[in-house]
Amino acid sequence: MKRRDFLRWSVCSMLGALLGQGEILPAEAAYYEPMIYKRFLQFTEYEVRPATEMLVIHHTGFPNEDKDSTVQAIHKFHQETFKWAGVGYHYLIRKNGMIEQGRRPDMVGAHAYGHNKNSLGICLAGNFDIGKPTAAQMDAVKELCRWLCQKYKLDPFQKGTIVGHRDLNDTACPSKRLYRRLEEIRWYCAEHSH
Ligand SMILES: [Zn+2]
Repeated sequence: MKRRDFLRWSVCSMLGALLGQGEILPAEAAYYEPMIYKRFLQFTEYEVRPATEMLVIHHTGFPNEDKDSTVQAIHKFHQETFKWAGVGYHYLIRKNGMIEQGRRPDMVGAHAYGHNKNSLGICLAGNFDIGKPTAAQMDAVKELCRWLCQKYKLDPFQKGTIVGHRDLNDTACPSKRLYRRLEEIRWYCAEHSH
């Protein structure tokens, strides 16, 4: 190492230590993974997903009620009622904005029939025909999508990158009060990704 490089390295290391970071961020924008709560769910099957090209947005959509859900409850429901390997979504966003891990991010999900091999499923707790997503849920879904776009090198404005479940299957999901806000999510990902 040359003396000049050594000096640069020392200054960077010191700065890093002062800032409490292990490393200095590169000049291009880099986002950290948002806080994702892992619930250590047990799945009966495991299949690795070959590609990640699409983020599919859902609501839980329980009838007649705009309610919160835990990922553990959805996991149990999908196993017992649908006989699936476990919860179909990769992420559940609670009404308070907490992001819970469902299927492991590298697993094939069960959330959009015919499109599970190349997509991640993100579900917001609630029924958005009746209620609307909370501000905390919107903040969380934006942070999550921005990070996923970065991680998988997705262009948020490319057609078919960030879609509602209804764009793929015959369903109202994620319902009108969330569906009409997908453009807001795309803009957030795009504006904050460079
Ligand atoms: Zn859905």
